[in-house]
This record gives sequence, structure tokens and C-alpha cells, in this order.
Amino acid sequence: DSLQGPPWLAGLNPAQRDAVTTTEGPVLILAGAGTGKTKALTARLAHILFNRLAWPSQVLAVTFTNKAAREMRHRTELLLGSMAEGLPWLGTFHALSAKMLRRHAGLVGLNPQFTILDTDDQLRLLKQVVTEAGLDEKRWPAKQLASLIDRWKNRGLLPEQVPPGESFAFADGAKGGGAALYARYQEQLVQLNAADFGDLLLHMLTIFARHPDVLADYRERFRYVMVDEYQDTNQAQYQWLKALVGDRRNIACVGDDDQSIYSWRGAEVANILRFEADFPGAKLIRLEENYRSTPHILAAANHLIAHNNGRLGKSLFTQHSTGEKVAVTGVWDGPEEARSVGDEAERLGREGVSLNDMAILVRAQFQTRLFEDRFIAIGLPYRIVGGFRFYERAEIRDALAYLRLVQSPDDALAFERIVNVPKRGLGDKAMGTLHAAARRLNLPLSRAAAHVAEGDDLTPAARRALRGFLTDVARWRDAADTLNHAELAELVLEESGYVAMWQADKSTEADGRLDNLKELVRAMGDYPSLTAFLEHVSLVMDNEAAADGEKITIMTLHAAKGLEFDHVFLPGWEEGVFPSQRALDEGGTAALEEERRLAYVGITRARVRAHVLHAANRQVYGQWTAALPSRFVAELGEAHVDERSTLSGGPSLWRAALAGGDPFADMQRGTGRGPGWDRARSGQTGSGWQAAKQGFSQSGRDFGPRSAAPPREARVSAISLAPMPGFKRGARVFHAKFGEGTVVHVDGNKLEIDFPAAGRKRVLDSFVSLKN
Ligand code: ATP
Ligand code: MG
Repeated sequence: DSLQGPPWLAGLNPAQRDAVTTTEGPVLILAGAGTGKTKALTARLAHILFNRLAWPSQVLAVTFTNKAAREMRHRTELLLGSMAEGLPWLGTFHALSAKMLRRHAGLVGLNPQFTILDTDDQLRLLKQVVTEAGLDEKRWPAKQLASLIDRWKNRGLLPEQVPPGESFAFADGAKGGGAALYARYQEQLVQLNAADFGDLLLHMLTIFARHPDVLADYRERFRYVMVDEYQDTNQAQYQWLKALVGDRRNIACVGDDDQSIYSWRGAEVANILRFEADFPGAKLIRLEENYRSTPHILAAANHLIAHNNGRLGKSLFTQHSTGEKVAVTGVWDGPEEARSVGDEAERLGREGVSLNDMAILVRAQFQTRLFEDRFIAIGLPYRIVGGFRFYERAEIRDALAYLRLVQSPDDALAFERIVNVPKRGLGDKAMGTLHAAARRLNLPLSRAAAHVAEGDDLTPAARRALRGFLTDVARWRDAADTLNHAELAELVLEESGYVAMWQADKSTEADGRLDNLKELVRAMGDYPSLTAFLEHVSLVMDNEAAADGEKITIMTLHAAKGLEFDHVFLPGWEEGVFPSQRALDEGGTAALEEERRLAYVGITRARVRAHVLHAANRQVYGQWTAALPSRFVAELGEAHVDERSTLSGGPSLWRAALAGGDPFADMQRGTGRGPGWDRARSGQTGSGWQAAKQGFSQSGRDFGPRSAAPPREARVSAISLAPMPGFKRGARVFHAKFGEGTVVHVDGNKLEIDFPAAGRKRVLDSFVSLKN
């Protein structure tokens, strides 16, 4: 009974209790969203500690975000008080591996103060590697190599383990191809005393393989291993786990195949299936009661995900008995969408809902700006979570580079980034000299600089500038002994002239940059040391704004995994935004199904109400495109959805349009399985669908350079499937892809047009505009 027994078991259902108390042997908890997987895992941790099955330092607990780790720590402490203190091995794969690697850095040629590179530094270094190999970086972009290497690392492959054929994926195999450049990159990293994200795990795998004593120590230590969000582990992480579990086999993983949304980062749902093979006799526990969401939300989510094939299959139910349908709102464009969300948030606020209980979950980063703009305009407090936005800003990166250089003299990338920022007269020529010296002396750039400053390779002015800079850095290093790190940061930013540079800058963003720098110094105060802070910056994916005051949260769907909010806004449910254009271009079902899982994650974050929005017109990367409602809107199931539109004509016109016999209507409507849809799937070409598809993919990417939005009346919206005035035979029109043309035939919303440049085409009226 829920009133008896220890507090962490209170209220848990029998399956959850089973998950908590089955501590010995492998356990796989496979269950849908909101069924209390994370709750059960936390209770399990408390159970193990309370019963003294292990000390806090003997439990390895992996969460997907740093935030989730903090929450689990907090909950356990609430339950157990001082008994839960410690828990040094609770964190993300990366944080845990970083911690391990700092203890054994020497075994892979690093020293314990190694720097963790961000993607920017990684790219800069790879650019050098590509160029030094004599390859044309324009033809073989470092970015491409970066993603190739990341993929190898995600699979746990060292350069020498890359299958030979795969090396051709870069530079057609020239200069040894991808694997050789990967090897060169790894050498450089070691020389710079740096590791990239993938290295954190990969180095540990290497150490486990080559130093059985180290591995044996960890195996002896970790009596219990547990993993949340297991469906999103990649190969390297899986190997890492398997290595650490050892013969005790006390591993408990919780996951949901329907929430696997990181395959682009190498995650493999197959790890779930493999679990039972690798850990024979594993106990499988299923949780089926959803405690989070009201019935319509849950039903809509189930309806949606049922469109995916290849699921392990789950049924979910809830005992909640009331609740609203999922709201679906069609709006004119992005700004109106932001306005609509802002209004609704304010309305909820007046009803007593806290802003903290509301979230806007976007598919892509670019979507956030409109909301920020709107919320700033109406004074609605918001926080951006889950983005690297703050730390990705140039001024923050510069400031961090200064600090990194102060902390580690070998950090050549940091040195290079700021040696001439602000301008000190150390331009390309001087840098060329420095690079040459670094190669000749076989030293990091930052060390070679000291030699160059004493030699006569540089012009006297440049030499003076370099000496001055090096003296400054040395002085800051000394100052680090007496100042705390926040004070040090302030000093460095002032004395370097970096702050003055932005003060002198008359551009509109300069003030914001100065504010960001202040915010950076403020943030540093929250960490015990510079090392701890820099580590935080490298690892943090879920940086939160200051916690004071209520705020509405804006974050990506990817970052929202595992979280819950009373009210969830899901904007941009349009073909090409969500599902993303990239997924559509890919063509197969895999990418699309992953997008659908992401939509499932989005809907299931909502406790009380989910609010989906789609705009008829969207400015993507500066260009206006007519947008179609996402197919996912239709897949939510009509019975669980409450549709409305702020477009002229209102909901009735919208419904009338949807009720038409057009294949589009099937797609938009909710059947999702109409003839048009089936045709599209099977590749047959219903002309309307075909035209739509054609028009659509054009609207996604190749849209002509029209920077300003056409006025509302003059534009033709994809939503307006009801007869539109204007397109008559002989009308002159403009199409983004085919250019100007003349209408030769009108059939409802389908037009036949003669394009001088492209010939005769059938297109939907939504994709052309009238020329007067
Ligand atoms: P996700 O798949 O989204 O990560 P989850 O399965 O981890 O979800 P939790 O976040 O652990 O689910 O739980 C969802 C909500 O249900 C939480 O608010 C949690 O407190 C609540 N909950 C879980 N189990 C119970 C229970 N037995 N009784 C009451 N509430 C519960
Ligand atoms: Mg969870």
C-alpha cells in the first residue's frame, strides 16, 4: 500500500516497484512517455543507497542532460538527505567520461588540464589539417571531415580501425583520405593538449582496452549502473557501458524506442534490442500507465506515433478523466504565430498559470528569434534553454579564449583566436611567421610565439605588439593566484582592451555584447574555479538563464526530452520546417520517422494542454515561402484536436478547404491515409499531389531572392485551397523556380503554365504569384 514503506516507493505502481527493487542482474525498462521511467530510476537509486547496497561513490548513473543529472541528485537528496551526498558518478556520458579522463589523461598522452574543444575550435583545427595535407579546403570542407570523424568516434573507431573503404568518403581517398586526416587530427589534438567531445568517450575506451587494471578498478567500484534515455545511446557509449558493467551485471536501463531522436548523432535504437542478447536473462519491465498527460494529449500522441513502422509497440493509458483537446491553430505568418503564443501565454497568466509551467518547443534554432523579439516587445519574461546560444556568441567565445589561454599556455587555438582581437597589428603576415616557427620548432603556436618575440623574424612593430601581448598574458597568469576567477575575467577583459573594443563599436549589437560579457562574469561566480567553469561551458548543453522570476521557456524539441510542462506550445508545424526540409529531401522513411518521434516527444511533454501552430507563410533564412501544414497535424487524429484559424474566413473556410477532394486535403485533414497520400507513398503520380510536391520542394530551398514579404492580400497562401481569385488564362505569373510564365489552363487550384525558361508545367496556384 502506498502509505507504507519508504517514501521513494510511495505511490509507485507494481511494475515501477519491480523496477526499483530488482537491483541485482540486468534490467531493461521499456516504456512510453510519461510512465514514470525517470521517477522509477530515481527511486531505484534511493533504494540502493538507503539499503546500503552501495555507497554513493559506487553507483554509476547516466542521464541525458546535465539538467536531468542535477534533478536526479536533488530528488535523491530530498528523499535521503545526507545519505545521498556525494554521488560523484551521476551525470551525462560526456561529463562522466571527462571526469574519468582527467584522472587518466597521461595514458593517452594528455595532461589533466586538457582543454575540451568546442565545434568552432574543432573546425579551425580541421581546416589546418586539410590545408596542410595540401588539399583544397573549398573543395573538401573541414565541416564534412568533422562530421565524418564524429561518426567514426560515435562508433568507437580509432583512425586505424576505420574500415578502409570508408576513408574514401573524404577527398576521394587522396592523401590517405578521411582516416589519415583523422589520424593527423588526433596527433594535433594531443599536441594541443585538447580533446573534442567524441574523444572523451573514445579515449576512455582506448584506456579500458589497453589498461585492464584501470578498467578492473572501475568495475570493482561500480556496483550498480543505471542509464536513463537509453534509446539514444550510440555505439561508443554502449561499449563504454558494457566495459564498465563487468561480471556483476547490475545494469538497469530505461528507454522508449518511440523517443529515439538522436540517430543523427549516431544513436542506435538497436542497442535496446541488443541488450537482451548481451545480457542474457535480462528482466524486461514494461510500464503502461501514463501519469503525465490528459487523455486527449495522450491519444493524439498515440495516434501520431502509430504512423511509424518498426516500433517495438506499446500501449499507454491514463486515469486522468478530463482535459482539453490538442489545440491546432493556423496563422498567417511567423510574427503572427509569435503574437498568438504571446497572447495565449498572457491569457493563461491572467488565469493564474505560472510562466514557469509553459514552454515553446521548436524544431530548429532559427524559430526562436521571432518569439524572443515578440516577448521583448511585450515584456514577457522568457528563457532560452538547451541551446548553446549564449556560449556560441562571438564575444563569449573570445572572452573564453582569453581565459583558456591564461589557464593553459599550450592552448594554441585560443591564442590564435584572440592574439589580434582587438587589433594589435599582428595580421596575417605576422601569423604566417608564427605558424612557420611553430612548425619548425614543433611547438604549439602559443609557445612558439615566445621564441618569435625574441627573434627578428617579425617587423619591429609586430615584435613589440607580440611582446606586449605575451607580457600581459604572463601578468594575468600571475594575477590568477590572488584574484578569484570572476575578478580575473574582469581584469583580463579590461586590460586586454577587449571591452574597450566593443565600447568603441557603434554598431547596434555592441551594447548587447557588452551585456553578454557582464553576464559571463556573473555566471563565472557560480563556479568554484576557472577550471570548473570552463568545464561547465564545454559540457553544458542546457544552460539556463538566471533562475529568478517566472519565465516562459523556449527550447528545441531535442533538448526537451524527459521534461514536462503544463502548457506546451509547438510552433512551426509545417512541411519543410517540421518535418524538416532535410528529412523530406532524404526521401526515405527513416528520417521522416525520426521527425515523427520528435513530434511525439513534443506532444508528450504537455501535462494539461498541447498547442500546435502552423503558419501559412514562413520566412526561412530570409526568404518567404508558402507553407503547408505539417502532415503531423493530420496524424494527431481529428477526435483529439481542436482546430482554429486566424486567417481571413476563419475556421469555417479552413474546414471547407480541407473538406475538398484534393489530395492536399487528405494530407492536411486528419485521415492521413487518403488516396492522395497513398499515391504519394507508393510513388504513383496523382497529378495534384505531384504538382504539390514539385512546388513544395521548390518552396523549401530554391526560392528566389525575394527578401520582403509580399503584402498579405497579394499573396497566395498554401492554406487557401478554396478558390482564389486572380488566376485566369493569360495571366502573367512568377514562379520561384521556373521564373515568369503565362497561365494557359486553370483547373481549380491547379494551373498549367507556359514558362519560357522551363517549358509547360502544372503547378499549384499557391506556388506562383501574379505579375500585374
Ligand atoms: P519521459 O519518457 O518523457 O522521460 P518518464 O517515463 O521518464 O517520461 P517521468 O518523468 O518519470 O516519466 O514521470 C512523468 C510524470 O508522472 C512525473 O510528473 C512523475 O512525477 C509522474 N509519476 C510517475 N509515476 C507516478 C506514480 N506512480 N504516481 C503518480 N505520479 C507519477
Ligand atoms: Mg524520463
